[in-house]
Amino acid sequence: MQVTFKVYRKDPEKDGKPGRSNYTVEVPEGATVLDGLFKIRDEMDGTLAFRASCLRGYCGECMIRVNNSARFTCIAKVSAFTQKGPEISLDPLRNIPVLKDLVFDWDAFMWNKIKAVKPWLEAKETASDGENIIPDAALQDLRKVMSCYHCGMCDEGCTVLPVDFNFLGPAALTKAYRFVFDPRDKETRERFQTLEQPKGIWDCVHCFEADEHCPRGIEPTKRIIALRDFAFKSGITNEKVARHHKSFAASVKESGWLDEGRLAVESEGLTNIPGLMKLLPTAAKALVRGKAPIPYLHSKRPGADRIKRIFEKGEQEKK
Ligand code: SF4
Repeated sequence: MQVTFKVYRKDPEKDGKPGRSNYTVEVPEGATVLDGLFKIRDEMDGTLAFRASCLRGYCGECMIRVNNSARFTCIAKVSAFTQKGPEISLDPLRNIPVLKDLVFDWDAFMWNKIKAVKPWLEAKETASDGENIIPDAALQDLRKVMSCYHCGMCDEGCTVLPVDFNFLGPAALTKAYRFVFDPRDKETRERFQTLEQPKGIWDCVHCFEADEHCPRGIEPTKRIIALRDFAFKSGITNEKVARHHKSFAASVKESGWLDEGRLAVESEGLTNIPGLMKLLPTAAKALVRGKAPIPYLHSKRPGADRIKRIFEKGEQEKK
């Protein structure tokens, strides 16, 4: 089978400008994209840089974008990408600094964030019998999380990271979960000093893309939600987050749906003038596109009174 790989190129030792090289190669039926890359490097262009390690679809080292979606090239069959024509585009992941060609900066992408959540156990004092045993139930859950092989697929699929690259991301937050929910760990509070900051647990928009992308079924979004619930129950709440939740609930209770303008203003805090000023550029952009919601001028949705009664019933039951 003949196929043309259109490969992203960038060489910081030359001019560092991104470009593309086309390589037409003959590959056998059943060849993987990585087989194609090896063939190019071995027979056509020894300067082409890409990564690979386990060759089993495990480690994630070979992850790049194949025809614009992230794949492990060692298990991605060429034939799966040539149905519309014999051309395949290969690019590094989006929004990550590129070191050379298809090699991107894994430290910036994931490892620095994992390091930031202190990925090791700080054990409590051992019991008098010298053992610090984890109960079976806790271990079962943690075992699932510990099966993460740090492939980075969840971060690649995350919808927040393309907007804010400094967000810790699902892979690092899943790693944090592994230690927060380990009953042997003594640093839960300290861990939340990092996790509750902006760019931490509260910045997840629970789109569940990370769960969709995880090849191990670890459900990173579910882990982030568990960390948030844990924070709430332990009284660890960031003030801005508390205002956000209050405003969200008040808006839905009053009008039956979300007043987004009000939410933005009340989340910042009505007396927080610098915070409110920061909203202005976004509001101006939204206004130009005819999408600026005017705070507090939201009409009620049909059936809003029923929604209000649900809230009131819940509030009464809570008392
Ligand atoms: S949680 Fe899943 S997708 Fe994310 S790094 Fe671990 S194995 Fe990969």
